[in-house]
Amino acid sequence: MVIAQNKGKIKFKILISLILFSINPFACGINLGFDDEDIIPSLFENNNTPLSLNNINGIPLTAFHILNDIQRTRLQKQISDLCQRVDYTYSKLSWGKSPCFSVPWKFDFVSELGRPLIYWEFKGQYLDEEQKKNVTIVLGGVHPDELTPIHLAFKFAETLQNNPELYNNAHVIVAPLVNPDGFFSNPPKRTNANGVDLNRNFPTATWNKYAYQVWVRSKVKDKRKFPGNFANSEQGTRFQGDLIAKYHPDKVISIHAPLAFLDLDYEIPKLLTLGKLTEQQKKARSLAELLSRSAGNYRIKDIGIYPGSLGNYAGNERIIPTITLEMNSSNPRFVRKFWNEFSPGLFKAIKYEVKKHQFADLGSSNFGNQ
Ligand SMILES: [Zn+2]
Repeated sequence: MVIAQNKGKIKFKILISLILFSINPFACGINLGFDDEDIIPSLFENNNTPLSLNNINGIPLTAFHILNDIQRTRLQKQISDLCQRVDYTYSKLSWGKSPCFSVPWKFDFVSELGRPLIYWEFKGQYLDEEQKKNVTIVLGGVHPDELTPIHLAFKFAETLQNNPELYNNAHVIVAPLVNPDGFFSNPPKRTNANGVDLNRNFPTATWNKYAYQVWVRSKVKDKRKFPGNFANSEQGTRFQGDLIAKYHPDKVISIHAPLAFLDLDYEIPKLLTLGKLTEQQKKARSLAELLSRSAGNYRIKDIGIYPGSLGNYAGNERIIPTITLEMNSSNPRFVRKFWNEFSPGLFKAIKYEVKKHQFADLGSSNFGNQ
């Protein structure tokens, strides 16, 4: 009886709204009087529609947009969707089950195709005030056609999560898959969904003047290294910049392949080899040497910096020691070997303190101007 009455009420309201709609189409949004429970599920069903696909002139609406709490709750499901997709890709690569579901990721940004840009903050149990500041950011999957770094970064996070007692004094941010859209494209590609190389898109001082020129003048205009139409145009770039601004890391380690060296960017790299090194330059160098020694005296090479590269943005301009760890192959068959080879150095590096904390001197406006 109650149901019949409700049905009658609903039919009546639909009729009214149809009349209103015929008078003014904008009235179609009229509340039909359903309970919230009736409406909310349909909203959730739509949550596969990527927010950032709503483009104006190709610029994602998510530009400079940090999700609010309601959106974040709504999008939590997307972390498990992402991990399912990571699991699927792992199985295709014969890597077994991925560590993705083992770690309580969070995210503040989504990619151009609406995928969460996940990261996790590990804080050891017994951090004193100085150790809290000794933050290490570990990045994987910036160039996801380089497959091996992605597993190293995921497994690194999982190992911290499963053995917190071994790293009581460590404070680490891990972002294992900075460019999920590139990883899930078929085949995986270096650039993001907009065809931009995230390691050429940072808003460095030289970007406007040189980034595009450097790209155009390269022998073959390499689509894979396109710096973007303007600096900081991409979600993956903003995401990394946001982590750096938020956590003021003591050091950043970005894992790549297959160039087979360690590259340290810190202040003006070329000057590192001239004159007397400062204490902090020596310590930054020692960090690279520590990683090298832990991986059988792995080659250290200074390849310089590019307009828009992370080494330039973080290492050169923000004087945060930034190490690019280039493993020697992207071949997915080598992931276990590489884990054994490079993970001991990573676990030592997170405890290593490079510098005294200088952000009070730099001031937050330093970030705000970028
Ligand atoms: Zn790379």
